[in-house]
Amino acid sequence: MILGAGLAGLAAGCVLTRAGKNVTVVEAGPAVGGLSRTIEHEGFRFDLGGHRFITHDRAIEDFVRVLLGDDCLEVPRTSQIHMRGRYFDYPLTPVNAVFGMGLPTTARILADYAAQNIRSALFRPPIVSLEDWVVNRFGRAMFDLYFREYSEKVWGIGCREIGAEWVARRIEGLSLWEAIRNAFTKGRGNDIHTLADTFLYPREGIGMIADRLQGEIESGSSVRTDTRVCRVDHDGSFITNVMLRQGRELYNASGRDYISSIPLTALLASLSPAPPEEVRRAAAKLAYRDLVVSTIMIDRDQVTDLTWMYLPEQAIPFGRIHEPKNWSPALAPVGKTHIVAEYFCFRGDSIWSAGDEDLTAMTVKHLCRMGFITGAEVIGSCVVRVPRAYPLFTIDYREHADAVLDYLGRFRNLKVIGRGGMFRYHNMDHAMGSGIAAANEILRAAPAPAREQLLAGAASS
Ligand SMILES: Cc1cc2nc3c(=O)[nH]c(=O)nc-3n(C[C@H](O)[C@H](O)[C@H](O)COP(=O)(O)OP(=O)(O)OC[C@H]3O[C@@H](n4cnc5c(N)ncnc54)[C@H](O)[C@@H]3O)c2cc1C
Repeated sequence: MILGAGLAGLAAGCVLTRAGKNVTVVEAGPAVGGLSRTIEHEGFRFDLGGHRFITHDRAIEDFVRVLLGDDCLEVPRTSQIHMRGRYFDYPLTPVNAVFGMGLPTTARILADYAAQNIRSALFRPPIVSLEDWVVNRFGRAMFDLYFREYSEKVWGIGCREIGAEWVARRIEGLSLWEAIRNAFTKGRGNDIHTLADTFLYPREGIGMIADRLQGEIESGSSVRTDTRVCRVDHDGSFITNVMLRQGRELYNASGRDYISSIPLTALLASLSPAPPEEVRRAAAKLAYRDLVVSTIMIDRDQVTDLTWMYLPEQAIPFGRIHEPKNWSPALAPVGKTHIVAEYFCFRGDSIWSAGDEDLTAMTVKHLCRMGFITGAEVIGSCVVRVPRAYPLFTIDYREHADAVLDYLGRFRNLKVIGRGGMFRYHNMDHAMGSGIAAANEILRAAPAPAREQLLAGAASS
């Protein structure tokens, strides 16, 4: 049985079904896809924040390309950062890097960067927080200019409380020198992954990947939406039963193996008997950042030619916008377009609790102020609240997450996968990879004669 039908749970279900196993995937929401689903609203389609598919893993890329077939588009990436009334290309171009902020500021950034390199070589400062990491790599001037506001907007806590891991993974081997070098040597085979120029995208929105996976699973197994996991029973070593709620009905279901992609804290809270006090205390220290997506439909063919625009300044309440049509023309009706604004927030705060009309009015006001649209062009809107969009990577999250994961490791028929499920900064490829790996482990653990047959089945489909 698989708990949660995001990409991680669905990828696991697909591999097991292809191998001839009968699995049941249970999903609390009305549709599959989790964070990687596409909303349809009056002829417009949009993701919960644009989702580009990009991976280093050839096998996962092939898996997705085969699933999507002719509906797999290759989309050029053109992103910008909007700051202090100016637009900066992302990734940096030579002109941007040198003249973007004016020569005096650039000179200050470069001098500060050189000084920081010497300080880091001499003193090797401990790198714990996001602030430590960025200052060490880029210098403080660059941190103050480009990183502080955006990071605090995304996470809602100070940069000294945010762990270094998120930024280190997100911009991988990128240093100021490498970013500038990349700007000058683009196309010579040494581009940095984070700055990749193209990505894969399904014609009708990212949710197509989940829909195709659901179709494959339903060819031999089942997916039950609107079905919430309420209780997970165990005997200390094995999961024995899961209590599910569908509408008002409660019922029990059981299987031989369990794969969970529901948020780690939710899984822990549903265990019966409850875990020991110290494990519950560790889980209580784990938190998630939530997201509100406000989409504005516009009576115009196109507003920008961008993939994403990052908006670090606190004066603008949302952190990023995208125009889905620039990802795939099929996402908007002919002659119309829409802009999706991402508000990073905590459940219960003023953004999360604001009414849809207020959020729409706020989004329209800022898009008008920035000169993108006029109020008269607005022909519709849609607000979606997305709980637990990001595991919150505080400087000590790893210790608490590991305590919970260690405890769950005692259950011999349980595997945890996925972004919220493992409390990792998983992108779609990692989430799917974790599901596929768990499914393959289950197949490999099958009794010998059956194992060869199952693995051959999974590989040949
Ligand atoms: C704004 C934003 C932008 C992103 N952009 C990108 C991008 O450009 N590229 C990229 O690769 N990745 C991106 N990601 C990451 C990507 O969304 C995730 O990696 C991926 O969707 C995680 O899939 P998952 O299956 O692990 O988790 P989820 O999608 O969270 O799936 C978990 C599922 O479990 C269900 N569930 C929860 N509780 C229960 C319960 N009690 N019972 C039953 N079901 C339950 C949920 O409803 C959900 O469907 C982005 C994420 C966000 C938030």
